[in-house]
Amino acid sequence: MQIIRPVKDMHSLSKLLRISDKSIGFVPTMGALHDGHVSLIRHSKHENDITFVSIYVNPLQFGPDEDFDKYPRQREKDLEILTSLEVDTVFIPDKKDMLGDGDTTSVHVGLAGKKLCGISRPDHFNGVATVVAKLFNIVDPDRAYFGQKDLQQSLVIKQMVRELKYGVNVVVCPTVREDDGLAMSSRNSYLTEPERKAAATLYKALKRAIDLSDADITSMKNEIESIIKAEPFLDLEYLDILNPEDLSALESTDLPMAICLAARIGKTRLIDNIIIKSETKLPDDCAL
Ligand code: AMP
Repeated sequence: MQIIRPVKDMHSLSKLLRISDKSIGFVPTMGALHDGHVSLIRHSKHENDITFVSIYVNPLQFGPDEDFDKYPRQREKDLEILTSLEVDTVFIPDKKDMLGDGDTTSVHVGLAGKKLCGISRPDHFNGVATVVAKLFNIVDPDRAYFGQKDLQQSLVIKQMVRELKYGVNVVVCPTVREDDGLAMSSRNSYLTEPERKAAATLYKALKRAIDLSDADITSMKNEIESIIKAEPFLDLEYLDILNPEDLSALESTDLPMAICLAARIGKTRLIDNIIIKSETKLPDDCAL
């Protein structure tokens, strides 16, 4: 596996590969890899001739009081995982090479970044989109892989691709979960043992929506909220039932619907969602 750090070297390689007519799949990550990332990489390997993975803890997507400094970093372990998956190239740019001396040129995603997570993290999605735009320009992939776990992020990136006319196909892969249903996340490593147990309630509450999909929106929300509020470790930030295509409000429990939430457990903030698509009422990532 090739490890590339300078932006100009990554640029040269992707230019070279363009000429060779091979398809490039790209998986952007912030490292601290887990099976959620592994699943995106497997999808990419399956659908492309070459797979690039980036590891870059993007400072622009963290607010001033957030966990940028303590975000988990495990470079050796990440490289072992990527080697075992036979990833072709890992791109690990440094901060200055990506951002220069300032960050004056940036992508603004508008209203799509202001709802849900954008309420408590007002600059988050502009920061994500700015760095993903740079990565797309450097890597020039045919397909880029994102997780449904970060549903709003995947929609913001799709919107950016559409509106800024990138020729990238954005592929959204199902959420990978722990045995008790907790969505895998690099931030799960922050949880103490009792917090970790309590965190499993989030998926239990989301799944309750499947049994309630004939109810009206308000009763469905109330029921899910009451399950979460009964768990003393959990502090619900938002719970919304929305159209998964664009996160617009739903008037009734029409399918498809996305049930999205964010909650704090101690100092850790977790997000999750399920999408109920069909009359079978199974969420599309139902592994349990
Ligand atoms: P991150 O390293 O947290 O920025 O995530 C990199 C990519 O992995 C993003 O597209 C995430 O949505 C995706 N991802 C993170 N956790 C999961 C998960 N549990 N299942 C599937 N994809 C995930």
